[in-house]
Amino acid sequence: MATRRPLVAANWKMGGSQQLAQELFEKLSRLHDGLSEVVVCPPSVYLDSVQRMLSGYGQELTQKLVSLGAQNLSHQEFGAYTGEISGAMLKEFGCSYVIIGHSERRRMYGETSDMVAEKFAMAQKMGLTPILCVGESLAAREANRTFEVLTGELDAVVDKVGIMAFDNAVLAYEPLWAIGTGKSATPEQAQEVHAFLRQRLTGLSPCVGEKLRILYGGSVKSSNAADLFNQPDVDGGLVGGASLNASEFTTLCRIA
Ligand code: PGA
Repeated sequence: MATRRPLVAANWKMGGSQQLAQELFEKLSRLHDGLSEVVVCPPSVYLDSVQRMLSGYGQELTQKLVSLGAQNLSHQEFGAYTGEISGAMLKEFGCSYVIIGHSERRRMYGETSDMVAEKFAMAQKMGLTPILCVGESLAAREANRTFEVLTGELDAVVDKVGIMAFDNAVLAYEPLWAIGTGKSATPEQAQEVHAFLRQRLTGLSPCVGEKLRILYGGSVKSSNAADLFNQPDVDGGLVGGASLNASEFTTLCRIA
């Protein structure tokens, strides 16, 4: 069976500050070398300064596999797209990862599954590792449509890029009803969905499915992280609210 290195990603959303980055890197640099990888995804305007701070720590943080990610990218490569940021720019400013298809972008900014698939392909073309988010609403869960919704969101991307593209990607299960609500999925609920997603991909390519890291996101905090991260198919977390506190987030990294 493939061993998967746990990953904890901080999604600052429209929050955080340069000071938070400073505090966080300071704490992470004092953490013992662990097995987990850490990705910090600040708002785009902070990428440059956060990357400089990260480089300032040199090996202290790179050895701990701390790297930078963005929260979104344009599905276009270049041109007249006011307000957009291209994958090439993110790469130039030190990003290794990019979050794709977060439910807030799907719901509030009208990102369709097709567009999400295009962004996934663009991220890889530019040398970025996509963190693809999928998740069901409360209404879908209550109507027993969880697997149907997740299958639709996942297949839209697999159909476009092919299963082998998932060899260099991360998947995140983020139930909409757990995001920012303080009410996370139970470890059993998370494991059930993660196992389902993995099986679906393993059915297409056993080695890709086994190797793929699947993160859980939705009200992860230090009080519930251990139980969630201990599930066999949960390979870490995508953390929103709790990533805005340097101590809390560092604790999560230690737990993973
Ligand atoms: P939350 O957000 O941890 O604040 O629930 C997670 C996410 O939306 O990525």
